[in-house]
Amino acid sequence: MRLRPAIAIVTPVIALFTLYPAIRFSPDTPSPADIAEAAAAKPEVAAIADAAPAVSLTLAPEAPPEPAATAPETVAELLPAQPEAAPEAEPEPQTRVLTVDRGDTLMRLLSSAGVDAADAHAAIASLSEHFRPAALRPGDEIAIRLSADETPLLLELEVEPEPGRTVRVHRQPDGNWLADQTIAPRTRFLVRAEGLVDGGLFPAMTRAGVPAGMALSLIRILGHQVDFQRDLQPGDGFAILFDRFRDSDGDVLGHGQVISASLTLSGRTLEVWRHKSRSGTTDWYDHEGRSLRRSFLRTPLDGARISSGFGRRSHPVLGFNRMHQGIDFAAPTGTPIYAAADGTIVSAKRDGGYGLMVRIRHAGGVETRYAHMSRFSRGIAANRRVRQGDVIGAVGSTGLSTGPHLHYEVVAAGRHVNPSSHVQQPARLAGAELNAFRARQRTLNRVVAGLGTRQEIAMASD
Ligand SMILES: [Zn+2]
Repeated sequence: MRLRPAIAIVTPVIALFTLYPAIRFSPDTPSPADIAEAAAAKPEVAAIADAAPAVSLTLAPEAPPEPAATAPETVAELLPAQPEAAPEAEPEPQTRVLTVDRGDTLMRLLSSAGVDAADAHAAIASLSEHFRPAALRPGDEIAIRLSADETPLLLELEVEPEPGRTVRVHRQPDGNWLADQTIAPRTRFLVRAEGLVDGGLFPAMTRAGVPAGMALSLIRILGHQVDFQRDLQPGDGFAILFDRFRDSDGDVLGHGQVISASLTLSGRTLEVWRHKSRSGTTDWYDHEGRSLRRSFLRTPLDGARISSGFGRRSHPVLGFNRMHQGIDFAAPTGTPIYAAADGTIVSAKRDGGYGLMVRIRHAGGVETRYAHMSRFSRGIAANRRVRQGDVIGAVGSTGLSTGPHLHYEVVAAGRHVNPSSHVQQPARLAGAELNAFRARQRTLNRVVAGLGTRQEIAMASD
């Protein structure tokens, strides 16, 4: 879900990336992180790249033109100044595009933008008639319009849950909020973009018609499987399938998701497929249906060292020999702790010698436990669902602990197991889920075979 105020910028995006050879995906500047950094170093590129997969949707038809200077941090500042704007005009309301970050809530985003809490609550309540704010995901964008007052008043809020569907709430003169939803009639097309890697994967993808933001996230996904510096050779090829939405005039409304991608590396072909499970979660798999993400993070925090391994040892506080049921990671108080895998919180509470502890139940009868925490993240409570990598709290030294560290346990089928030997096996689709995955692969392969020399084909919406 991406939106931006006005103006088609797909062409400039490609042009800009061609203009900046330093951002090219070549052996000299190889990683997606480098691209992101390089882009960040050039704010105009970053802003454009961020907005690249956007749809051609105007923010609010009746919104007044934005003087470029009043819209910092948004793509609006890239737009040419309105020549007809009177220099001494009343300050105009300003539009800002807020990007959802990991762990963000709509409420938090709005308050960080300076919106009054009661206003934010009222707007969100109104929005919820058409859109569930909890459905926001990192990278999603929200456009807001604020009055030019010293204490800016929220006037309007807009989200685009999918290309062509826009939900907008706006403040009425009486202070009440009104929500409306616009659905543009649209047709879904399956697009095939193919090319040879020549001077870098990223420019090759964008030349083949893959939106820049989509190319970047795809490179990130493929990075699970490919060491680009070592594996990628000139002449290697790629093919990407993705959704494109067009309105009834055939104009592009926007792009959906990547469906699959394949890379041919010196004759070896590697495929990745996006699959939405019947429970509604979307993930990436190889063509056999094995998850590209490790089932469990090797370490549920960054930059920590193992200060005590799994097994029998003398307990540092109790002083006698006993089994160490987990792994200790030494890290400063406050270091964020991540959920090691998708799951549901069993409990987040003080638990004797464990101090503040979070327990998460995962698929396959596995439970992970995180002890001695200094605090829990907001919203971390029993029955709450978490995804791998969500921050659940921070390192501390609560309970029976000699210093700040994370005591991490993995319990499988009721028995403590060594967490470091529990990370490797990738989750694999099975049963009905695998059948659905394979059926969709067959359907798409048939459609692609029928494309012939065409690049895209109309599909039934799904
Ligand atoms: Zn321990």
